[in-house]
Amino acid sequence: MTSDVSERGGQGPWHASPAHLHLVQFYESDAYLLEMLEQFVATTLQEGEAGIVVATEPHLRRLRLLLAEHGIDDSLYSATGQLSLLDATGMMQQFMVNAQPDPVKFQNLFGPVIAETRERWPSVRIFGEMVALTAERNQEKATRDLEELWNSLQITHDFSLCCAYPMSIFSSPESANLLRDVCEQHSAVFPAEGYSTLKSDEDRFREITLLQQKATQLETEVQHRAKAEEQLRNALEAERAAREEAETALRLRDEFVSIAAHELKTPLTSLMGRAQLALKRSKRDSGQDPEQITHLVESVVVQAGKLSRLIGQLLDVSRLKGGTLSIERQLVDVVSLLEESVRSVDNSINNQTITIEAPETLLAEIDPIRLEQVIVNLLNNALKYSPRGSEVVVTLAWQESGCIELSVRDQGPGIPVAERDRIFERFYQVGQQSSPGGMGLGLYICREIVELHGGDVLAEFPESGGTRFIVRLPISSSQPLSQPHFL
Ligand code: ADP
Repeated sequence: MTSDVSERGGQGPWHASPAHLHLVQFYESDAYLLEMLEQFVATTLQEGEAGIVVATEPHLRRLRLLLAEHGIDDSLYSATGQLSLLDATGMMQQFMVNAQPDPVKFQNLFGPVIAETRERWPSVRIFGEMVALTAERNQEKATRDLEELWNSLQITHDFSLCCAYPMSIFSSPESANLLRDVCEQHSAVFPAEGYSTLKSDEDRFREITLLQQKATQLETEVQHRAKAEEQLRNALEAERAAREEAETALRLRDEFVSIAAHELKTPLTSLMGRAQLALKRSKRDSGQDPEQITHLVESVVVQAGKLSRLIGQLLDVSRLKGGTLSIERQLVDVVSLLEESVRSVDNSINNQTITIEAPETLLAEIDPIRLEQVIVNLLNNALKYSPRGSEVVVTLAWQESGCIELSVRDQGPGIPVAERDRIFERFYQVGQQSSPGGMGLGLYICREIVELHGGDVLAEFPESGGTRFIVRLPISSSQPLSQPHFL
């Protein structure tokens, strides 16, 4: 042993480490760690104790240089077994299995080394940074387990231990738990050099105050950041929803244009064909059977009526969108209006019957043109979607709640459960397929008209089959529906 050993020892925070102590030193710079390590070795040798250093290869290299600078030839001490400088990576390869420390291998590796050293020297001090390597690789469980294995080894073997971790490992918020656990697993904790090197209590209190301020500031910053991130997330979500809505609107518009073009073209083609045929026949043969001409002209009128209805629906949609569809109320006998509506629909094509169940009269303040439009639409749907020869039942009654209830019941296929909520939506057609002579607007317009009257409309699906549309209207504008009506 050279005289330098006694000169260098006794300065580090872990220089006097009685057996069974398990210390941890945090550090910011390698230079500080190596200075501490060199003092640790010097103290150990000076006091005639044995030291085992398990460090990374670069740290071992620099430690040897530092010791040499201070006249300590590590090879001399290694030869006597007083100093063992062990490569951390090499040691770990001997007991780590699948990135986890194997307790038996660990015990079999370090147990004998410590026991043998302890036989020849009064006490053994170990410095280890294998835990820093596992922590650096984000192997948190391996780090905790390894610290525990050292703690267990201290129960059966007589040695003190100092671990070291660079502070940079704990720079993320996620590493806070590991740091807390590592501190818990050690009997003494030495903060990094920013604090450890301060000489007086005054300096240390000042530093703690500044650190507390930094912690508060960081916490506030984290909160602001979390808030800003949440706002950004919400803004992105709102933007995504708006984009989706715009895309849906565009898609609906495109679909609608194609449906509208198709629906308008069908009656127009038929109308043109029949009108041309009528013209040709009347030109070619002045003695043409007037009944045939009448028949052709009648079908022209029917097709023109379909066209007019479809164009009327388009106009209504644009009026509803612009808020210009208004209700012109009059005191009307709704029974007569209902009978007139039934007469205006053609139930002969599929040989269907329409039955009316209504009182003799029922007066209400409604817009007769618009209500007729609603009834006709519901009737046409009922006929359109019901089988040949079936019966459509229309009921009209006064309800005690002070409203009139009109229902149209058919024997059709009903509407699939998954689509029931959507049939009153604009352009919605069940199965997303164009229905004969429709654009998915009828029920939408019906609901809007009924709601402009202060009423409501809904569909019911009786167990015996078919669909029953129910319209409820207040008798006068001064008597709005008392309660929402649920089925
Ligand atoms: P359209 O004019 O295309 O028939 P509507 O708005 O009147 O559009 O109806 C929307 C959808 O609801 C239709 O595509 C049809 O599938 C369904 N529907 C309406 N009435 C009935 C009914 N009485 N029975 C079965 N399905 C119906």
